[in-house]
Amino acid sequence: MKYISIIGSTGSIGSQTLDVVRSNKDLKVTALAAATSIDLLEKQAREFKPSVVAVYNEQKAEELRVRLADMDINVYAGMDGLLEVATEKQCSIVVTAIVGMIGIRPTIAAMKAGKDIGLANKETLVTAGHIIMPLADELGVSIYPIDSEHSAIFQCLQSGNEKDLDSLIITASGGPFRKKTTDELRNVTVEDALKHPNWSMGHKITIDSATLVNKGLEVLEANWLFDVDFDDIHVVVQPKSIIHSMIQYKDGSVIAQMGTPDMKLPIQYALYYPKRRYLPGDRLDFWSMGKLDFEKPDMDTFYGLALAYEAGRCGGTLPTVFNAANELAVSQFLNREIKYLEITEIIEDCMKAHKTIANPTVEQILDTEQETYDRIRSRR
Ligand code: MG
Repeated sequence: MKYISIIGSTGSIGSQTLDVVRSNKDLKVTALAAATSIDLLEKQAREFKPSVVAVYNEQKAEELRVRLADMDINVYAGMDGLLEVATEKQCSIVVTAIVGMIGIRPTIAAMKAGKDIGLANKETLVTAGHIIMPLADELGVSIYPIDSEHSAIFQCLQSGNEKDLDSLIITASGGPFRKKTTDELRNVTVEDALKHPNWSMGHKITIDSATLVNKGLEVLEANWLFDVDFDDIHVVVQPKSIIHSMIQYKDGSVIAQMGTPDMKLPIQYALYYPKRRYLPGDRLDFWSMGKLDFEKPDMDTFYGLALAYEAGRCGGTLPTVFNAANELAVSQFLNREIKYLEITEIIEDCMKAHKTIANPTVEQILDTEQETYDRIRSRR
């Protein structure tokens, strides 16, 4: 039996992790946490019977405590609650699927408690990779990537030695606005941006796919996860999302990982690594697939990707600014407070205005996040 905790169980990755649990009898959920969605969390708690449940929003936690009074489940609130879920005694792996920098502290706490990490929270490595990666080494815990691209690279790496690695080729679908010009993007709506061609995901990440900021965050993550320089991390657009990413070894051999777009594969691989399990679902049909096209990403129009490389090369607190500015700008766009093109403009403005701190502590990272939010809120 493998015991797992999920932080962010009500989101897209969290729910699909529970789908994987449903179809594997040797997985048991011991703890679940969500930010606010207590209706779904209550259902999940009743179905999976974890011993610990947490809600980040204190008021909602109180409400859930009342609702789950008939169950033998401890309900916790706030950051302390997330930490309880992260360090729940029985679990051996914590899936960090919550969105935002609130994922950093629970991830560190879980590692210190000796748990392996199934990493789906992008912000953790983007903003605190310099803390997380050495800590994982020191504590001897493993970080298994759950993003499709990083899982693909991780799977490709099983084919050889990491020391023979030359470069990473991260694939991008290009999102709903591929081939559009800046002029054509001026008046696109939230609905337009939410139409992702291949993947069904949460709203925030779908907008990030439309701006290519998501790819930028993935580049930043890959730099930490696989210890590869930014000069050796390349992004290639592959509109059908069949190749999930590739690696190139120093002899020029390229290894690709392919499959239908289904996040349950990276999730299940992270939970059972190095074993593979049967996973129900569609398989690739090469006879009907036709052509696979590749393009260079348009980093002039979608310069959020270029800004990510800039933030990554500079390091320190600048990736935090990149991430935090994007996070708030996207939520303002989703609330129809700003236009689509302003998302990347805001990121650029915030990066320009920021004085980078090298090797920031978690405290300084969270302060930088707050400063960035304040800067954006005082913008108009
Ligand atoms: Mg991805």
